[in-house]
Amino acid sequence: MAPLRVLILGGSAEASALARLLAGDDRFAPVLSLAGRTKAPVLPPIPHRIGGFGGVEGLAQWLGEPGADFLICATHPFAAQMRRNAVEAARRTGIPLLIVERPAWSPVDGDLWTGVADMAAAARALGEAPRRVLLTVGRKDLAPFVETPQHAYLIRSIDAPPAESLPPSAEVITARPPFGEACERRLLEARRIEVVVTKNSGGGDTAAKLAAARALGLPVILVERPPAPDLNGLDAQHAVDADGAMAWLAARHEAASRLLRV
Ligand code: NAP
Repeated sequence: MAPLRVLILGGSAEASALARLLAGDDRFAPVLSLAGRTKAPVLPPIPHRIGGFGGVEGLAQWLGEPGADFLICATHPFAAQMRRNAVEAARRTGIPLLIVERPAWSPVDGDLWTGVADMAAAARALGEAPRRVLLTVGRKDLAPFVETPQHAYLIRSIDAPPAESLPPSAEVITARPPFGEACERRLLEARRIEVVVTKNSGGGDTAAKLAAARALGLPVILVERPPAPDLNGLDAQHAVDADGAMAWLAARHEAASRLLRV
């Protein structure tokens, strides 16, 4: 049987882990797609492509040629547009879709979290009085904080944001996850951070700042995830991690081989 062609929409730890699981597995011919946002992405050990498809239309075309038998949307939980596109392209093409989404973080005893719906609400939740803020929300979501210039921001992202997108009192540090709790605690203490603003990304790679904030009794303003795409009757499946995605693929492969045997 020819290997099953799998397009993985990546940009998350889960997508990278799935690429590692698929490397060398001759049941599958996978391609990992990256948006091309980070300057020096960690490249996967499987074939990959970089850059947008050109909306739903472009993605649906790609699924026909070069072509895929299965679509796995394993983008970051905040990559809402790409998820919507994946659902719509799967609907148009009839290609089975698996959505991989890691669970959101939930508070434990000692957490001082304020959940907010979006970045503008996070900026408002900082209040009027100047505060020292650790801001880890990604490069493209800084605009609301330019409108709250009374705070001193320490901004951490993988690549530095463009200088013109920064609030007036901002310092940038670039770093790539995973981060450990001891380092996060040192950072919060050394920079005299008073409040952390972040997204509810979930997962282990960036959770240590929450544990460090808890240990230091610091409040956290947590931007909740965008709503899941409307499946509108589409029979998309769900997994929470790379192992779940691999099990789904293995079952699809087994079913296809069984069909060939009868
Ligand atoms: P988005 O708003 O949902 O997507 C915007 C556009 O970027 C999409 O319409 C698509 O362009 C292109 N795109 C996104 N993911 C792609 C992929 N895997 N392969 C090819 N094109 C892709 O996404 P975003 O929030 O800008 O995030 C961009 C990338 O960074 C994603 O891969 C995401 O997983 C990753 N990321 C995002 C966050 C976050 O907080 N948003 C955090 C960490 C990593 P076309 O319409 O032209 O196809």
